[in-house]
Amino acid sequence: MKKHNFSSGPAILPEAVFAEAAQAVKALPGEGLSILEISHRSKAFTQILEEACRLPKELLGLGDEYEVLYLTGGASSQFFMVPMNILGEGERAGYIDTGAWSVKAIKEAQLFGSVEVVASSKADRFSYIPKDYTVPGDLKYLHLTSNNTIYGTQFHEWPETEVTLVGDMSSDIFSRPVSLEGFGIIYAGAQKNLGPAGTTMVIVRKDLLGTIERAIPTMLDYRTHVKKHSSFNTPPVFPIYVSLLNIRWIIAQGGLEEMARRNQRKADLVYEVIDHYDIFSGVAAKADRSLMNATFFLNDDTLEQAFLAQCTAVNISTIKGHRSVGGFRASMYNAMPYESVEILVDVMQKFGKKYAGKA
Ligand code: PMP
Repeated sequence: MKKHNFSSGPAILPEAVFAEAAQAVKALPGEGLSILEISHRSKAFTQILEEACRLPKELLGLGDEYEVLYLTGGASSQFFMVPMNILGEGERAGYIDTGAWSVKAIKEAQLFGSVEVVASSKADRFSYIPKDYTVPGDLKYLHLTSNNTIYGTQFHEWPETEVTLVGDMSSDIFSRPVSLEGFGIIYAGAQKNLGPAGTTMVIVRKDLLGTIERAIPTMLDYRTHVKKHSSFNTPPVFPIYVSLLNIRWIIAQGGLEEMARRNQRKADLVYEVIDHYDIFSGVAAKADRSLMNATFFLNDDTLEQAFLAQCTAVNISTIKGHRSVGGFRASMYNAMPYESVEILVDVMQKFGKKYAGKA
């Protein structure tokens, strides 16, 4: 029996996508060749790539000033590629520090220009999204992590500023309709809500490129990949194909509005139980709770093994919190069925009743 996969990533994908991907490993429909052996220059793959670049723009409502790229090196490579490409020496970038991923992005940006941490929730263990701060008008860009996979916090409103935004959307891309008007660059490692590990989607607004003097190695220069439509070198063919299957699935289900409706419904179910039983407490401030990663503690941590055992008994997998936070984390990306969340919630309710007043 297949497990209920609450992993933060690599993560669950729709069963239909697994089935189609498995079929394509044997033979890509109409090609007589496996997706693993076709040339990245073949007509079949060129069409796959074209669609994989076109559909995200349609889904996100982005115009031709943006280019969708599929790169390698993980979202972590974007931590340095962004400043390397658009932050000139002597220019200043702003970062909102909402946890480990922002911290890593900040460290890399400091190699290329001056960095201002505009706001941080570090003092409160990254349990909330900072709100009252002023964004200096002279920043080249303001970077934020839209969903903080580790702590379970999520931006529900973008910062109010005229400064160009750069977003690490690794763990909530395509989970909800969002206005991307203010964004110059969006990037997302595929392995959470997009596809398998192995590619990173980067969406760049082309007018930002070539605005600085720096010499950039060819492979790290966004212009290379824009010009060659993600095929300057051999792109990650299979991860791109599976990402396309998933994007098609999202569209067939009703698009981002439908994803948001489902994600809200699943998250509500978990958060209601967290709030109802005194054995649980949420990690994130209520207003900033993530619809993707619900994080919680047991108020008596000696019960953790017992809770884990109950989860394992009903086939729930990968529910433990990130090692830096502890507790538990239920990652519920688009493909997570409501029924799997109900099974988790049932375990939580039974546990909550059994240990009521014991915390
Ligand atoms: N940003 C966020 C928000 C993440 O959750 C992660 C974790 N996968 C990363 C960046 C790093 O991604 P990668 O492993 O693809 O470098």
